[in-house]
Amino acid sequence: MKRIAILGSTGSIGTQALDICRRHPEAYRVTALTAKSSREKLFDQVRAFRPEMAGLLDGIRQEEIPEDLRFCRWLSGKEALHAAAAETEADAVLVSIVGIAGLQSVMDALEAGRQVLLANKEALVTGGHLVMEKAKAKGLPILPVDSEHSAIFQCLQGAGGNQPEKILLTASGGPFRTWKREDIRKATRAQALKHPNWDMGAKITVDSASMFNKGLEIMEARWLFDMPESRIEVVVHPESIVHSAVAFTDGAVIAQLGVPDMRVPIGYAMSYPLRKTTGVPAPDLFALGKLTFERPDEDKFPSLRMAKEALRAGGAACTVLNGANEEAVARFLRDEISFGEIYDLVARALDALGGLPATCLEEIFEADRRARKVVKER
Ligand code: NDP
Ligand code: MG
Repeated sequence: MKRIAILGSTGSIGTQALDICRRHPEAYRVTALTAKSSREKLFDQVRAFRPEMAGLLDGIRQEEIPEDLRFCRWLSGKEALHAAAAETEADAVLVSIVGIAGLQSVMDALEAGRQVLLANKEALVTGGHLVMEKAKAKGLPILPVDSEHSAIFQCLQGAGGNQPEKILLTASGGPFRTWKREDIRKATRAQALKHPNWDMGAKITVDSASMFNKGLEIMEARWLFDMPESRIEVVVHPESIVHSAVAFTDGAVIAQLGVPDMRVPIGYAMSYPLRKTTGVPAPDLFALGKLTFERPDEDKFPSLRMAKEALRAGGAACTVLNGANEEAVARFLRDEISFGEIYDLVARALDALGGLPATCLEEIFEADRRARKVVKER
């Protein structure tokens, strides 16, 4: 029996993780569930999974908790996130909240000696060096949930001493892959939210359309697999069947294939080092017929170039890119700015703040705050 705390249980990743728990009640027990504001959904989950603790970032008063749910400890605000990451009897913590808030939770979970199942890419993007250092010091693995990184992790299991030369990070190319640059800049909210292959939360769906998501994933791979940016290659693969691959020094390329369904990578992180059924069928290669691959177009999607430059710059540059992008996407989703302005605002923030340091959590949070301010004030 593995005891799992789920931070962000009401989201796209969180609910799919709970589907897996429901499928294997003999294997998983849920110790904590948290959400930001989705109370009713969280109430239903607490009713079904009976965790030790539950919490809402936006807060809940004692009298608002339904009578039948008072068996568990309810917390509010950041205290809820901290307790879920570090205080329940969990073996593993699934960090599936969205945004830089995930960094503190990952550090809390590691500090408390919990295995981290990591969906929240922002933790590695902003504090990758601190997270990996802490994980190493604690002798705990960071098990990736992001589909590409799970694929790479799975490919590496078959390495057998073969040296990885290059990571081939696949990208669907998003809904604007075949659009012209001018048209991409004018894309609407509805168009950006229509991902061709994956069904995900709003923020990451917009990031997939801008390809900032792939930029963030280059940073994520850099830290998870200790691979310099120069050896991580983005490969556009519109079918989203090859979830990524590793090229080894002996000329072999090992890839992981599957239908685009997050339950596979979530399930693998949860059951690692074992494998369990997920309810997801294998892809039908005959029905697919062919798989295609293209080079990314960095003129149409400057996000990729910006991400690589930020990684090379080091310090807080990746944090600035991430914070500016998070804020710009929020503004785009509120119809305050155009799609093209997401790129402009991130570039502006990087110009202004790309040189800030990131030697500790405080500096990272400060760089994040300042990057958001640049975007908010435009
Ligand atoms: P969702 O927006 O669907 O869900 C986010 C969850 O976190 C919800 O439970 C939400 O609560 C909670 N939450 C939101 N903001 C905060 C906050 N500031 N502090 C604490 N909790 C918060 O996101 P996804 O599930 O799509 O993504 C989660 C993470 O996983 C992201 O980092 C994303 O990049 C990553 N990821 C997601 C993939 C996917 O397929 N969805 C694929 C790969 C990575 P509430 O419901 O109350 O708002
Ligand atoms: Mg991904």
